[in-house]
Amino acid sequence: MNAKSETLNFQAETKQLLDLMIHSIYSSKDIFLRELISNASDALDKLRFEAVTKKDLLKEGEELHIRLEVDKKNKLLTIHDNGIGMNRNEVIENIGTIAKSGTRELLEKMKSSKQKGELEGLIGQFGVGFYSSFMAADKVSILTKRAGEDKAVLWLSSGEGSYEISESEKELHGTSITLHLKTDKEDESLEDYTDEYILKRIVKQYSDFISYPILIKEEREEEEKDEKGEPKKDGKKRKVIEDVTINSMKPIWTRSKSDVTEKDYAEFYKHISHDWNEPLKTITFSAEGRIEYKALLYIPAKSAFDMFFQNTKGGLRLYVKKVMILENLEELIPRYLRFIKGVVESTDLPLNISRENLQKNAVVMQIQKGLTKKILDSLNEMLTKERDNYEKFWAEFSPALKEGINADFENREKIASLLLFYSSNSDKLTTLKDYVSRMKSDQTDIFFITGENRDIIENSPHLESFKNKGYEVLYLLDPVDEFVLESLGEFDKKKIKNAGKGADISTKEEKEKAEKKLKEEGKKYDDLLKFFQEKLSDDVKEVKLSSRLVSAPACLVADEHGFSPHLEKILKQHGDKLPKTKKILEINSDHKIFQNIHDRYTKDKNDPLVLESAELLYNYSLLAEGAPVTNPVKFTALLTKLMERAF
Ligand code: ADP
Ligand code: MG
Repeated sequence: MNAKSETLNFQAETKQLLDLMIHSIYSSKDIFLRELISNASDALDKLRFEAVTKKDLLKEGEELHIRLEVDKKNKLLTIHDNGIGMNRNEVIENIGTIAKSGTRELLEKMKSSKQKGELEGLIGQFGVGFYSSFMAADKVSILTKRAGEDKAVLWLSSGEGSYEISESEKELHGTSITLHLKTDKEDESLEDYTDEYILKRIVKQYSDFISYPILIKEEREEEEKDEKGEPKKDGKKRKVIEDVTINSMKPIWTRSKSDVTEKDYAEFYKHISHDWNEPLKTITFSAEGRIEYKALLYIPAKSAFDMFFQNTKGGLRLYVKKVMILENLEELIPRYLRFIKGVVESTDLPLNISRENLQKNAVVMQIQKGLTKKILDSLNEMLTKERDNYEKFWAEFSPALKEGINADFENREKIASLLLFYSSNSDKLTTLKDYVSRMKSDQTDIFFITGENRDIIENSPHLESFKNKGYEVLYLLDPVDEFVLESLGEFDKKKIKNAGKGADISTKEEKEKAEKKLKEEGKKYDDLLKFFQEKLSDDVKEVKLSSRLVSAPACLVADEHGFSPHLEKILKQHGDKLPKTKKILEINSDHKIFQNIHDRYTKDKNDPLVLESAELLYNYSLLAEGAPVTNPVKFTALLTKLMERAF
């Protein structure tokens, strides 16, 4: 039978994960059973779906099921299913390797994380389902036959870096996984997994909703009966062994909300998401009317490490008449909500709908609309009623949600009211709505400023005039926010403006006054400003007096169409070649430094200090907005000279 037995090595990453599992960080080892049952259920789903088009895969009257079988003497536990099974290549592909992209990154993160809770969270979001069997077993075998093929495969491993694989015999399609249970009496987290009572309890706890019967053989005593089925008077008791189904099999999304506990919802979430952590939020939804469907949706607690990979799959499963039709669906939900996991069941779709047809299907489009609305409304409810939870959501998934501003025009307003920003108001996050409610009576627009961190922003000269007027300014620390707000353009009929690009907030009178002052002073300082401009002509478009500055001597202002300093920096870091957009250098004519420079300039046009001051003011302005100086060598030389004079 063992004709072509081959020993193969696990992929390096797999081996590392296995080590982690075996020396498990998990306090409860019971979850291995949940994982194996979950896999069996997936395999049954796949077979049932394939059998819709290939009828001969399922024999007439064959009931799809999962069976637990124990061998107390030899300490064995076997999980059987008559699902899709695997051929040799599939076993190697699915069991010997972890093909998921991002494994390496995750393992790096794991190595640097020493805390148990954190490790659990990391490995949890990865969902290394099958490998968890090595938490309870020191040897595992898989006997499996792919439906529609005739050869079976036997896979054996003790989880130590390699596995054996050979051709084998198996009557029925499907998979049997046998665990040679660990017998470590010391390890209290291991239970006796050959005890039917314990198995029943674990199944009830984690896998009750599985939609296939989970069978176990149970021994029962029965009194002998006579022909009429009445117990015989002096009849002996005899032992009967029979199959019992140990799960209720009720699809959880069809049950009324009051019958389902949070824990049940959480276990179902783990089954469909392959995530081991509890979900952050459960959303139930039932649409009635022209198109009827039910949805059970989840917001995970942690964003998947691959959420921003191009090929990340969606997390929804579609059921039609209780049969799972498709999984990892994107068509049911817009891409910016791809972090949502869950199931959708509709009776208005044909059983044999394909992925390709899904996109053009009118019912699917209706469902997508309805789900999107429901999710956005639920998020809004979370925002108003469970702020702490919402902020957890925000920390994980805001990058995806923000994509919605540009991707979903229909729901733009709704998404905009879900955005959170830091601001000059406090160190807490604020919504745009709350910002608007705090706006000063003379304030007409919403302002933001971008920067790398709060410190840089708060010291930005651009902020001065806003502080002076008591206007709140949003602090955008995430570079993408600038795109988001600029494309949003307005909120609650108020224009959104970039304070770093010279948004003018002075009143009409102030403007007139400032213009008058600038005119008068302009004459006075004209020569010096021209001189500065000549010196800096390579770097700045214009040097002019400012009316926005209070305590800073100078600042750089981009014109309306230029990039903001922060964005410019990010783009440069990404290696983008930007067209050199010259900025305007604005000078604070009331500042002592400028006054003194001017005094010197009037006395001696060739005063070296005056010559150097142009360069110094320009570089100062760069640094003040968090940008690097253009020529550090020259700048340090100037600074040294200045210090030498001072000390
Ligand atoms: P996941 O379930 O997250 O994909 P697992 O480690 O639990 O990860 O399982 C790995 C893969 O092995 C599954 O995706 C599936 O392709 C295959 N597999 C596991 N158990 C079975 C089974 N009982 N029948 C068929 N295929 C299975
Ligand atoms: Mg699994």
